[in-house]
Amino acid sequence: MPGQFKKVRRPPDNWRVRSYLPAILHGLWITAHHFFRNLFIFTAHRFGLLKRVRAGVVYQWPEEPRPVAPRYRGRHRLLKRPDGTPRCVACYMCETICPAECIHIIPQEVPDPFIEKAPRAFYIDLSKCIFCGYCVEACPEDAIRMDVFDFRLAGYDRFQMVLDMETMLNSEPSHPSQ
Ligand code: SF4
Ligand code: SF4
Repeated sequence: MPGQFKKVRRPPDNWRVRSYLPAILHGLWITAHHFFRNLFIFTAHRFGLLKRVRAGVVYQWPEEPRPVAPRYRGRHRLLKRPDGTPRCVACYMCETICPAECIHIIPQEVPDPFIEKAPRAFYIDLSKCIFCGYCVEACPEDAIRMDVFDFRLAGYDRFQMVLDMETMLNSEPSHPSQ
């Protein structure tokens, strides 16, 4: 509807804007600043100087893992009882609550009369997992945790992304800063 819009005249671009020269020089200055700053600090580090001044903004992976929060949720592990058997009682709470439906448990009976069931197989498909942590929260036995700080979650095919029970039972908690 005419009358409701205010027409604003855009000033024509001057030669500075049309040449892109100031923007290019500004970008070159930022790049050169980082380059020479890092070159100077890395050289000083070589001679044992300025050790407390950090150089590049990147981490020298894998020698220098990136710090993460202690509550970081990473790859899963299954906890064991003192006798080495899984603490999991195959109750399906984690499988039921998992929004990605990536947990699959096959139960079996155990001779211990105080334990109703135990998992015969326990799989987590990490290619579907969204690392929400619901499985850890839902577990009534504190049998599953996500405190394996393993960042190399990659595989050449989807089958390599499936965690099996043995892998999870033999995983240890770790933190890169420890
Ligand atoms: S972290 Fe979330 S998505 Fe991944 S297995 Fe647990 S409940 Fe499922
Ligand atoms: S919720 Fe805990 S005890 Fe139940 S099946 Fe999952 S890991 Fe096992």
